[in-house]
Amino acid sequence: MRIRIDGGVVVGWSGTSHELIPDGSLLVEGNSIKAVGTDKSQAADKVIDASGKIVCPGFINLHVHSQLNIGDYLLADVTKKDYLAANWFVFGAPLKEKIEAPPAPAVAIGRKYALYSALKNGSTTVLDPGGGPGALDDYVAIVGQLGGRVYFSPPYRSHDIFTDAQGHHYYEERPDRGRPGLKSAVEFIKKHQGAHNGRVQGILNPAQAETCEPSLLKETVAVAKELDVPIHIHAGGNLREFLQVLDTHGKPVVEYLAETGILGPRTTLGHMVFMGGHSRVDYPAGEMRLLAETGVTVGHCPHKCAKMAFAMESFDRYLEAGVKIGLGTDTYPMDIVSEMRYASLISRMVDKNASGARPAAVFNAATIGGADALGRKDLGRLCAGAKADIVIINLRHTRYGPVRDPINALVEYGSGADIETVIVDGEIVIDNGRSTHIDEAELFAQAEVGAKRAWDNWAGRDWNSRSVEQIIPPAFPTRKLP
Ligand SMILES: [Zn+2]
Repeated sequence: MRIRIDGGVVVGWSGTSHELIPDGSLLVEGNSIKAVGTDKSQAADKVIDASGKIVCPGFINLHVHSQLNIGDYLLADVTKKDYLAANWFVFGAPLKEKIEAPPAPAVAIGRKYALYSALKNGSTTVLDPGGGPGALDDYVAIVGQLGGRVYFSPPYRSHDIFTDAQGHHYYEERPDRGRPGLKSAVEFIKKHQGAHNGRVQGILNPAQAETCEPSLLKETVAVAKELDVPIHIHAGGNLREFLQVLDTHGKPVVEYLAETGILGPRTTLGHMVFMGGHSRVDYPAGEMRLLAETGVTVGHCPHKCAKMAFAMESFDRYLEAGVKIGLGTDTYPMDIVSEMRYASLISRMVDKNASGARPAAVFNAATIGGADALGRKDLGRLCAGAKADIVIINLRHTRYGPVRDPINALVEYGSGADIETVIVDGEIVIDNGRSTHIDEAELFAQAEVGAKRAWDNWAGRDWNSRSVEQIIPPAFPTRKLP
């Protein structure tokens, strides 16, 4: 199948950077890009009119947990006593004896909803550091059904995080989860690597810096090399982790990770905000240099940080220090377009510099930055030979007004809701804002049922048996219906 996209501004690739091609044309043949330029005469089976639109490389989202937004709504927990257990560890520090695995159908819906949400909002490739457990063959089937690209394998860690009956937060060694978890990840990768025409790729996911002991991380590095896959680990995402690593290993988190050998050009650190020198960490600076020297990528999720009232310091300072940055959404909305704006605006505020964190820099992070972290020269750019992963965005909205520079306009005003067409591997998976593969209304209804079930049962996992309403009262008093 040959698809030609005519008109609009095509964001092409010069070989070293993105370049804007006004009134451009792009030809897709099979699953890759055949030509990018202005020639609209080449034969095609389907022609898409992109006038008034921007034709972008598919975005690379380095942080999509394949689960529902159940935990995100608990982020706003204002109970000070729960500061450690609830606010920071939104991924869950339940009571040990109250842990209950979610039912398989709920896991499947969470996965499908998150991956679809990211895809529809422009992320043609996502790094999934873990969502619901189990049913791994089903996971691969879901990726096949939706049509996006995913880097995934089940996460593992040598220590779990729990809350006790008094609300104290603690780590517990779990020999059954560390090595066996890594083994499961390897099995997953060996079985599914390359599935769905290469749309499923393996990545090793040691879960968090403070939950993985050094030998597990060293083994991860060796296995990743053997399997030739990248690595993701959460690090520098909260102050608690920084203090825990300092206390346990006697060094700040970046140094700790560097000594295990895990920092390298094919590793992504999810978040990496809290380190020596950050205004919220009373510890001397110096770790930024290690990030730059090792070539690791920081998977920056500015919106999630902003929700929790902290910020990377700063996007520009990292870049100036030579640190590689990609972008991730982490939390809902899985909207990589808005995430670019958060990255830009928050960096400007941190540096008190209105001309900082330019749109080009955050656009690079959301495209070639992410592709580089995954070792992909055929993603995140539109040039002959690259994979045909393309996003077409309508800029003729009253919200934008007349557009002079489409990249600036997209970063300053854009939203994933403006995305009309998403093409992955040469196939149109979102057409005029609708999935060509699934019934979105049905998925939405299923997600609502799943979320309600989890909220209704929240007291069962809370250390103090509180309901969601008790933890976060509704914004306004809610009238009881008869
Ligand atoms: Zn995460």
